[in-house]
Order: sequence, then structure tokens, then C-alpha cells
Amino acid sequence: MLEKIDSHLASQQAPLKAAVVELVRIPSVCREGEGRYPFGEAIDQALCKALRIAGDLGFTTKYGDQGYYGFAETGEGEKMLGILGHLDVVPPGKLDDWKHDPFDPFEKEGMLYGRGTQDDKGPLLAALFAAKALMDAGVKFNKRVRFIFGTDEETLWRCIERYKEKEELPDMGFSPDSRFPLTYAEKGLLQLHLEGRNESGVKLTGGSAFNAVPDTMLYAGERQADLVHKLDELGFAYIRQENGIEILGKAAHAMFPEQGINAIARLCIALCAIGIQSRAINFIAREIGEDPYATRIFGECADEPSGKLKLNVGKIDLGEVERLSIDMRLPVTVPKESIVAKLKISAAQFALEYKEFDWLAPIYLPLDHFMVKTLMQVYRQHSGDDRSEPRASGGATYARAIDNCVAFGALTPDEPVTEHQPNERTVLENLYKAMEIYAHAIYELTQ
Ligand SMILES: [Zn+2]
Repeated sequence: MLEKIDSHLASQQAPLKAAVVELVRIPSVCREGEGRYPFGEAIDQALCKALRIAGDLGFTTKYGDQGYYGFAETGEGEKMLGILGHLDVVPPGKLDDWKHDPFDPFEKEGMLYGRGTQDDKGPLLAALFAAKALMDAGVKFNKRVRFIFGTDEETLWRCIERYKEKEELPDMGFSPDSRFPLTYAEKGLLQLHLEGRNESGVKLTGGSAFNAVPDTMLYAGERQADLVHKLDELGFAYIRQENGIEILGKAAHAMFPEQGINAIARLCIALCAIGIQSRAINFIAREIGEDPYATRIFGECADEPSGKLKLNVGKIDLGEVERLSIDMRLPVTVPKESIVAKLKISAAQFALEYKEFDWLAPIYLPLDHFMVKTLMQVYRQHSGDDRSEPRASGGATYARAIDNCVAFGALTPDEPVTEHQPNERTVLENLYKAMEIYAHAIYELTQ
């Protein structure tokens, strides 16, 4: 049945590239509250454009609930295969770091540059055009194949939550928003605040996001001479600024806090040691320190499928209130409640209160699950790569939004990750290969 597919895939390469270019041109960064759109006008434009592209390819489409989400569907049957991706992108960051306009796609040496080429417009469209190639080849799907377009993946997933409230859930699916071969386990993702009244008089603020290891932290208080002495003693790097002492850390994603150096932690350790104390400073200095696994609080917490618990203090704010913003990645088999209970006990010793900000439950499909087996088989057969194994990850994709779902592609195992970075780019040959793999995957899952 699938002999003829290769020519149909080949003829989708140019339209796929053109569609990626069209979508990347739209700077679909979240701008909440702009106009009458949930996440701003650009995201709405990207959603409408994606639905128009899908409509032109012969899918039936729906613009969902004032632009919270959309979907495109083909095939028939009682069951549904869901393919979940997103149309929003992270901001470009400093434009000087880009060689070309991030929203004016540029092709060079087989690579297409632009924000969203890798995350997630390229991969999502590769899967969409894969289904188109199957349609052109006359394949009959015995399930409905539904492409679900999220609009709020990079922020709070309100799009997919709204979809789940209002629409039919797929019976199985994959999310083309990661790396091949596939991700069968994603850690639980907990973001929380620890808060207490500030009775210390210490003022301090730093860090930019829950999920980023802070690489700098400024102390502008009166004890700079003592602090410098202590920093020297501890071997912590710093520079003297006009307005204070800047502690130097190293940035990293909160999935890999062990690869970074947490400047907040270093400052708190040093401050506590010279007698500048507060609830939050003491909590960090005594309970966490520079340990990305927070072993003092949680013991050795790890499991076989997904590895160690990880913790990142992303922000500190000592004003009227003391507030820490903490990002945690929990092993897939460890119950969240047991972790929260330990954290609460630890925080209570410093009169800090636990407040949950966001929780994304883990996913974990056993290696003998039919989705893992089917997709691994398809991947091995069509990529020529028979060495790469299914992976566990601390990251989060829409795979965890529905049951029987994994993250599948589209980056090849050796392709550099450029998502969320300047000069984001996709290797076009790899994107076309991904389209081929997706075509065979959709075929296998719908026969
Ligand atoms: Zn993504």
C-alpha cells in the first residue's frame, strides 16, 4: 500500500518549506490581553494561518473557543489519533545575537533559520504534510487523525486545558515537539513559591524565571567588605560593580540545574555565613545550598526510568514579603504528595509557607506499550538509526496532556538544539526525513 508514498513525500517537501516560512513570519509570542485575543493578535494570526494551510490541504478545521486552540482533521473511525503541537514561540531575546531577522526566515547551507523553525512550527507542519502525502497516496485511515494546534505552550498551557474541557480527547497520540526517537517518560514538573513575612529588614531581589538557573545576583547592602571576604574564602566568583557586589553563576535550564551555578544560592550561603539572615536566606543556605538534588530535604530521590529529582531556586524577592520561586522536576514514579510533604516540613522550620504555582503531572509509558513499540519500530526502519534508545526527559511537551501519548521527533539525535536560542534553525534534510517518519507512523497507527 505504501510503495507509492515516496513520490508523494518528495512532492510535499517544497510546500512544507513554504508553509514553515509563512508561519515563522508571524511573530507569535504571547502578548496576553492584547486586543480581543486570549494570547495576542500574532498568535491568533498564526492559528488562523495554520488552519488555512490545513484547510487548503483538504483537512476539515475548527477554530476553537475564541482562539484558544484549533484543530485539523482527516480520516474516519470511532477512535482518534491526536498529533499535538504548538504555534506560539518564545521571544527572540537580544536581536543583536541573531545573524538575520528571527521572523524573516533565511535559508543557508541546507538550514532554515528563524524563531519557531525547530520549536515547534517546523515539526508540527512536517507531521501535517506527512498526513497530506498519505491522503494523496489514497490511504484510508481507520481512525480520525486530528492535529491539535496549541497557542500557549511556552507559557501556561491554558490552550490545551481549554481544549480538554471542550473537545473530544484523542485515544492515543504523539507530540512532534522533542527529539527522535521518542520520549516515553517526562518528569513531573512542579513550580511553587515559598513565602513568609519579611521581619529581617534585608532587601534583595534577583533571578528571572522559575526554570532558569540564575547566573547573576547583586548585593547592594552595607556589608560588602565582609561579603567579599567570605566570597573569597568560599571560592565564589564575583565582580565589584558601582552599585554593589555581583555574584557570578552560570546559566542553565532547570531541567539540568547540575550544569549551572546558582548565583542566588551562592549569595545566600555567603550572607548567612556573615550573619545576614532571613527566612529565605537561611532556608537556602541550610537546606539546599548548592545541591541541585536538594538531598537534605528529599534524601536520595530517583527512579530507574527517569533519574533524579532536581530543584532550582529561580528567583528570590525579599521585600515586604519574602518569596522564593522554585522549579522542581520529579521522578515519574514518585508521588508528588510525598515530595510536597517533605518540602513543607522543611520550609516550616523557617516559617515559610508552601504555595503551588503550577503542576504538570508526569508521563510514563512502559517500554512495551504499543505506542512505544510501534513508533520505535517505524523510527528504526526509516531513519537507519538502530542504536538510539527511547529517552526519559525533564522537559515538558503536550504528550503529557493526554493518555497513550509520547513525544516523537522531530530533531534527529545528533542535531544541535537551537530552540529558545538565537539563530534557531532546522536542518531541512532532517525535517524532510521527519516528514517521512511521521507518514509511516501515522500509517501504522491508523491501519
Ligand atoms: Zn515546543
